Amino acid sequence: MNADVVVIGAGITGAAVARGLSRYSLDIILVEKEADFCFGATAANTGIIHSGYHDLPGTLKSKLCVTGNALYEQLCQELGVEFERNGSLVVALNTDDLKTLEELRQRGITNGVRGLRIIGKEELHEMEPNLTQNAIAALYAPTAGIVSPYEMAIALCENAIHNGVTALLEARVEAIEKANNRIKRVVTTQGTIETKFVVNASGLYADDVSQMVGIDDFHIYPRKGEYFIFDKEVGCLVNQPVFPTPTPISKGILVSKTIDGNTMIGPNAQNLNIEYKYEEARVATTTEGLTQVLQAASRLVPNLPQAMTIANFAGLRATSNTRDFIIRSYPDIKGFINVAGISSPGLTAAPAIAELVIGILKDEGLELKPRKEFDPIREKPIRFTDLSPEGKDALIGKDPRYGHIVCRCENVTEGEIVDATKRGARTMDGIKYRTRCGMGRCQGGFCGPRVAAILARELSIPLEQVTKDGDGSNLVVGKTKSLLKEKLNV
Ligand SMILES: Cc1cc2nc3c(=O)[nH]c(=O)nc-3n(C[C@H](O)[C@H](O)[C@H](O)COP(=O)(O)OP(=O)(O)OC[C@H]3O[C@@H](n4cnc5c(N)ncnc54)[C@H](O)[C@@H]3O)c2cc1C
Repeated sequence: MNADVVVIGAGITGAAVARGLSRYSLDIILVEKEADFCFGATAANTGIIHSGYHDLPGTLKSKLCVTGNALYEQLCQELGVEFERNGSLVVALNTDDLKTLEELRQRGITNGVRGLRIIGKEELHEMEPNLTQNAIAALYAPTAGIVSPYEMAIALCENAIHNGVTALLEARVEAIEKANNRIKRVVTTQGTIETKFVVNASGLYADDVSQMVGIDDFHIYPRKGEYFIFDKEVGCLVNQPVFPTPTPISKGILVSKTIDGNTMIGPNAQNLNIEYKYEEARVATTTEGLTQVLQAASRLVPNLPQAMTIANFAGLRATSNTRDFIIRSYPDIKGFINVAGISSPGLTAAPAIAELVIGILKDEGLELKPRKEFDPIREKPIRFTDLSPEGKDALIGKDPRYGHIVCRCENVTEGEIVDATKRGARTMDGIKYRTRCGMGRCQGGFCGPRVAAILARELSIPLEQVTKDGDGSNLVVGKTKSLLKEKLNV
């Protein structure tokens, strides 16, 4: 294989870079070790498009957060992704916190955040009636928003592919070869790619990939964050992300709503040693962590209906020892760009990171000739449940598979699942992230076997080969009692 640029990692960062590069006449290969896009940190975060007052002025994080935030509206419009600019609050629970609010406001102003203001108790409780009566004031940031992080990353990848990018899945990068201090080829488990430019956007493993070219001046540590999601029946207990004042290592455990209408609480922040990221159970939740999340969130919104949680999950922030994003080239290795340490606010910053990386590639000698045929539009996939009764009727008339509800909690139809396979889903999680099948109250208890059967049919594979999220995660081993029958030879 040959490529002008190889992008390693198909999380939000790699996806945004690949889609950004697809504007130009270039051969681009997006290489991902997993069976689908966004199975890393991008699948497990709070989905907040931060306004930009949390990070210290002068850092890359602070700059790219504010510029990334401003790019979201247009990007989501182009990609058919839902985005709500619903603002955010940092709440003061005592007089000491008031000082922190003012510090954050000043920091935000220095970072270029617009519209920040400190609001008093009355306005705050009008905005958020479920908030604790202990809340005395808040920093209101009207430019913050929410998005579905996996929908965003998948949409970026789909649009990149539509514009000529090749995605190589289940392709782990194992080596990067150089010659005369310049990138020469990338060796993956799916073959070798001759290239002069590599963008390393491999998240938690960006230090390992960087070491493949001999750059070993940073390390990536996992910082775990755990969450609870509540049943939709609970509704949205807040109208926007509601933070406490931050801790030295995180923005604090918050109460938010997802773009799909669930209340969500979390994440805590647990620093783990570097080896932890290689462990099989690295995104497992813990009793202590979830207890901490529930207790802290209850300080903001009392009486959270604990019995109405439907899922808990954990994500790992890729935290660098430099405490900032590392986005740079290296004079001794032409053509190699690290995009590492992309912890929070990486989702927000991703569109701005892509612009920065494209600029660095240009400085490294990549010729950027705009491609006339570039099409920024990705058509929004049909979501049956959002259609009017007339729209539903018309759709079912055209394709009766839209009349067959497979996921009863989220009202997802067979037609949408088939469409997801056509758009690239190969696994149960791939279907889940594209359609929301299995994200409702029963968490796939009802629809799981039905989705697996549809996947097997659409991919023309036996049911035994259907996996949750790729190699080794097969759902079934065979027909009931088949092993016994084999043994008894009947
Ligand atoms: C708990 C938590 C909460 C967060 N909340 C927010 C938030 O509200 N707002 C916000 O802006 N940000 C938030 N973030 C940060 C945000 O999620 C990340 O910055 C972002 O998802 C990072 O994306 P990425 O593409 O760099 O990494 P990833 O999504 O991890 O993608 C890296 C990809 O590289 C692949 N890869 C790794 N090694 C190789 C290899 N050798 N070969 C091929 N592929 C490889 C991986 O499989 C993976 O798919 C949060 C993060 C966490 C964990």
